[in-house]
Amino acid sequence: MAPETRSCPACGHEAAQAVWHAHLQVCPACGAHQPIAARARLEALCDAGTLRELFADVTGGDPLCFPGYARKLAVQREKTGMREAVMTAEGEIEGRRAVLGVLDAQFFMGSMGAGVGEKITRAIERARDERLPLILFSASGGARMQEGIFSLMQMAKTSAAVADFSAAGGLYISVLTHPTTGGVTASFASLGDIMLAEPGALIGFAGPRVIEQTIGQRLPEGFQRSEFQMEHGFIDRIVPRGRMRAVLAQALRLHEGGVSAW
Ligand SMILES: [Zn+2]
Repeated sequence: MAPETRSCPACGHEAAQAVWHAHLQVCPACGAHQPIAARARLEALCDAGTLRELFADVTGGDPLCFPGYARKLAVQREKTGMREAVMTAEGEIEGRRAVLGVLDAQFFMGSMGAGVGEKITRAIERARDERLPLILFSASGGARMQEGIFSLMQMAKTSAAVADFSAAGGLYISVLTHPTTGGVTASFASLGDIMLAEPGALIGFAGPRVIEQTIGQRLPEGFQRSEFQMEHGFIDRIVPRGRMRAVLAQALRLHEGGVSAW
């Protein structure tokens, strides 16, 4: 049975699980954003009763017969109740329909294999075909190395789908959450028309430890965090999780005219 209380890894504040849930896994004392399950995020974001999961049966394979991969996948599925590291859906935010995708860092570090790439691509294509705005939340350790080149090619595939969607006139809002790194940063996550981020999220290609080891230097405080990326022009706005629904609704409202002109 899950413990009834949990303490914040950032400040040590202890709160009941129900309180964490009500605060969308943001610490009520210090505001640190802890991981939230993809489904919980989507349920909090969408109007009640409008969330409809898409492509739930799509999964990747084990093309390299990578030692231990099948067993690890089974463990991830058991732990999270998800079949892949992304949940794709359609829903309404304050009455405005959108296609949504949420990577879940609790499933295999949100890594992108063929299953994740395929679901993201189908979501983008669905948005294009239905002329709906697209909102993707990223949280990822990058490409899933157990699938080798099949994983890496998802970067090109998802990026091409975004380019196609963009050329058709679609609105794509990318939301970067902790941590967004590797092949996901280097593909669809960085291609939003509007780039949002949650506070304090690590956003980069290689992680800070790898960079420090490569260049043999200490990195500045806060390097690659949302606030650093905002200061350097990579992010349009930092949005706390509790405000995300209102901000996305506003963006959808402002761009409604554009969508009808497709
Ligand atoms: Zn805290």
